[in-house]
Amino acid sequence: MDRQRYLIDTLNRWAYEYYVLDAPTHSDREYDKLYDELKEIERETGVVEPDSPTRRVGGEPVKGFERHTHIARLYSLDKAVTEDELAAFITRVRKTDENADFTVEYKYDGLTVCLTYENGAFVRASTRGNGIEGEDVTAQVLTIRSFPLKIGYKGTLEVRGEAVIRLSVLEKYNREHEDALKNARNAAAGAVRNLDPKMTAERGVEILFYDINYMSEAPLASQVGAMEFLKREGFKTYPFFKVCKTLEEVQDAVDEIEVERRKIDYLTDGAVIKVNEAAVREEMGYTDKFPRWAMAYKFEAEEAETVVREILWQIGRTGKLTPLAKVDPVELAGATVRRATLNNFGDITRKHVRVGAKVLIRRSNEVIPEILGAFDDTMSETLPVEKPSVCPYCGSAIEEIGANLFCPNRACPPRVVQKLTHYCTKNAADIEGMSEATIQLLYNKRNLRRFSDFYALTEESFFGLEGFKEKKIGNLLSAIEKSKHITLERFLYALGIGQIGRVAARDLAAFGSLDRIAALTYDELVALENIGEVTARGILAYFADEENREELARLMAAGIEIQNVQRTAEGAFAGQTVVLTGSLTTYSRTEAQKLIEARGGIAASSVTNATTLVIAGEKAGSKLAKAQKLGIPILGEEEFLKMLE
Ligand SMILES: [Zn+2]
Repeated sequence: MDRQRYLIDTLNRWAYEYYVLDAPTHSDREYDKLYDELKEIERETGVVEPDSPTRRVGGEPVKGFERHTHIARLYSLDKAVTEDELAAFITRVRKTDENADFTVEYKYDGLTVCLTYENGAFVRASTRGNGIEGEDVTAQVLTIRSFPLKIGYKGTLEVRGEAVIRLSVLEKYNREHEDALKNARNAAAGAVRNLDPKMTAERGVEILFYDINYMSEAPLASQVGAMEFLKREGFKTYPFFKVCKTLEEVQDAVDEIEVERRKIDYLTDGAVIKVNEAAVREEMGYTDKFPRWAMAYKFEAEEAETVVREILWQIGRTGKLTPLAKVDPVELAGATVRRATLNNFGDITRKHVRVGAKVLIRRSNEVIPEILGAFDDTMSETLPVEKPSVCPYCGSAIEEIGANLFCPNRACPPRVVQKLTHYCTKNAADIEGMSEATIQLLYNKRNLRRFSDFYALTEESFFGLEGFKEKKIGNLLSAIEKSKHITLERFLYALGIGQIGRVAARDLAAFGSLDRIAALTYDELVALENIGEVTARGILAYFADEENREELARLMAAGIEIQNVQRTAEGAFAGQTVVLTGSLTTYSRTEAQKLIEARGGIAASSVTNATTLVIAGEKAGSKLAKAQKLGIPILGEEEFLKMLE
């Protein structure tokens, strides 16, 4: 067989498996090897076949976009946003043909493109444009791998699809690049409508195909037939595709999409409902804008455009300043939004956010939506967001660490309130009912400043404060009393020593007492798995500070009693700090940790001087080696199981 033809066919098949079926059968290295061989043959012979994969590397930048007139007009779809509108559409179709079927598919949010084939070969790609005329993006689209360069159909064909970027690909891009891309739609459109085809190739664009716009020979009789044709010819399609007979079935399929769309890796904003039969479509025809036989059902927007009017700075317990944008009121997912968040000052620069700029915001799991990015809009007057040089609350000079700004003043009022609020949270001292608002009130009126001040509160402290009746005061005081009994792990987390999180607190607690933790050196701290250099320095600084030591003494004097799990527990692992490494066949790691703790032990995650026992399962790695070096007793799974009995 001709080697060149063999290489082209093999590489195209592998690319099809990888990009269209999402089921790669060969490694990148195997692909690259054959690819290089093909390139070499092409260089020698000077022949590059029309369907050679080497054509898909981005060529030189183009000067501008040529206009292209579509063979058949690319219509946009009429929209429905309520179930009544959807029902009315079904009724209209039924009037034309009472037996018509409907197809339901996802509506992807990207850039619509149209691909033309002649004599079985890909010849052109264009954007939808105004539906009659679009822009030629052949060079750019050629670099996308989710469609074939050669097909079996020999007539003239125009297929329609949506150029999209997977959400996971976008996320990865935004992690790795200085300039954030706003969202998947903008990212896909920007990658295709880009004069440099190499850029399109780099962004990881794919096309999901869903329609046939024109067929010169043997046009298909239905949408079902069209989807089968697309799949058969090697175009990428999305698996969700429903054929429905009744309004109820259509609604069920739409509901399914509304739930599932949050879980899939593509940005979608609705469902598309089409009449299946081509004959019925022909009979229904078009308005001057839309086909009468199809409908886009749009869900409540997850994203919206608005304008930034002001940036406010909020301050957290660590002193970090977080920007909060006041925006023009806008409807988003059924609520009116007036504020949006950003991570830090660096985020403002990265996302090009300016005062007066039009921005895209997205509903997030948090209460306040986040700003995805700003539009390049030179029409409106915008002002840069000024980097505060002093704290807006206390006037201290701001410190800049990486992308973050900090108020270094430990007595900065909102910072203190946040610290006290954190102390009362569930995983910390768990003072039920002590809300941020109550703390703010006590801060203002009763000089509440330190953790130990909670324990000095009495009934009288609340007299004269609005909203505090006898019962509520009683509940608060007993919650405060209850918080005196606290595990070392929670106490460490509540104090926020070195700004540690719960995982690091757990590791530290394995040392058994505050005194032992206070005596740890820098080297001992960074040796812990979940403690980095910054945290280690923070912990050392905490214990070196006179004020902190006094506060700890006050807390102890107030009656804080640290429940020392290590000394009080009974059971097979009483007094032991146990580290699990490798995998056990009988229990998951979490299960095993629970069993150890139920028997009086402390389950820690890293091997240190405090570790008294290591349980090594299969494939135990560096932790086992370290335990051996430190001379810590090591048990295998069988011995561990015996101890559990
Ligand atoms: Zn401040």
